[in-house]
Amino acid sequence: MKQTDTEFSLATRLTRLGRDHELQQGFVNMPVYRGSTVVFKTLADLEQGNARFTYGTLGTPTIEALENAWSEISGAAGTVISPSGLGALALALLTTLKSGDHLLMPDSVYRPTRRLCTNLVEKFGIEISYYDPLIGAGIAGLLRDNTSTIFLESPGSQTFEVQDVPAITAVAKARGIKTILDNTWATPLFFRAHEHGCDLSVEAGTKYLGGHSDLLMGLVSANAETWPQLRKTYDAMAMLPGAEDCFLALRGLRTMNLRVQEAQRRGLEMAQWMAEQPEVLTVLHPAFESCPGHEFWKRDFKGSTGLFSVILKPGYDKRQLAHMLDNLEIFGMGYSWGGFESLIIPFDCRDYRTATRWNPDGLALRLQIGLEDMDDLKRDLRAGLDRLGQ
Ligand SMILES: *Cc1c(COP(=O)(O)O)cnc(C)c1O
Repeated sequence: MKQTDTEFSLATRLTRLGRDHELQQGFVNMPVYRGSTVVFKTLADLEQGNARFTYGTLGTPTIEALENAWSEISGAAGTVISPSGLGALALALLTTLKSGDHLLMPDSVYRPTRRLCTNLVEKFGIEISYYDPLIGAGIAGLLRDNTSTIFLESPGSQTFEVQDVPAITAVAKARGIKTILDNTWATPLFFRAHEHGCDLSVEAGTKYLGGHSDLLMGLVSANAETWPQLRKTYDAMAMLPGAEDCFLALRGLRTMNLRVQEAQRRGLEMAQWMAEQPEVLTVLHPAFESCPGHEFWKRDFKGSTGLFSVILKPGYDKRQLAHMLDNLEIFGMGYSWGGFESLIIPFDCRDYRTATRWNPDGLALRLQIGLEDMDDLKRDLRAGLDRLGQ
């Protein structure tokens, strides 16, 4: 089977990528290669590194199959894989930054990314400033002579501000500044990061690629211009994923299109239903007009997934919220998302935002819609909302 069959649609390619009929002796799936040492045939081969694979830290057929498949679906020149999404974000930042640089971060960024900046990136003498995620082309006004990287995350974590990615990457390109996008929510299926000008795109494979809450993984894909630097940084550190995890990710890839399409359908239905509940003030879902930056979602995205937030009407307190959440039967309270199970968490960004103010009129909840029966899910939430008023 060919590695590249670009004449087929993405859905078809997801079922074919990273498989080789001959190498697999006819079996449908790739075996798991575990390995450190690679043995060379001759002294000349050893001295010249003359082999397809030379050492475990530089790649195995299992890792390479996933890297190539991800590059194909992302429209990227190359991909490297880390043992977690956060690890992949660290790798992306280490690729484009050096001491003395200035980094721009959106105020809506995933909170562990902010911690990564404070606890690690700043240590290397890199200046960081946070910006309003809705700034668009106005980002030009924040650039300094030493700005080397603009980080984007669209939509933002928890609060779902959709960024004007093409406007920001255009400003960056004109000034020779690198852009890194956290594309986890949309995945390459719903947002084409490199086509919209991003140099590096990061996906927490932990979410929709894994799809079953049993995998931690991060993937960084690069455009042609940035790929050599990304690979060089990656090979210097050798923070590789485990072989079994790559196998799980390749398995996840086969059903990923089906799962994100279904996540889209369920997310939209539930967000609409939540918007109609009397306790709910507003819905923060990129496909809804009430979401900041909705016009950019409409213009640039090919779909939406199953994670969104709601703001409750004012007047409910912590005790009532606990009464609602503690007694839910199906929705679990937990971080992460993208699995088959529905989740809900409260959140509050007031304490740590610096460039923008987060001051909603009511309590905020983030929901991940899983694969349970929709009526069961609505009954669980309706009972929870009833408890909120008690
Ligand atoms: C979960 C998540 C990550 C990190 O992924 P892990 O594998 O849990 O480290 C990064 N970015 C976003 C937007 C996420 O939701």
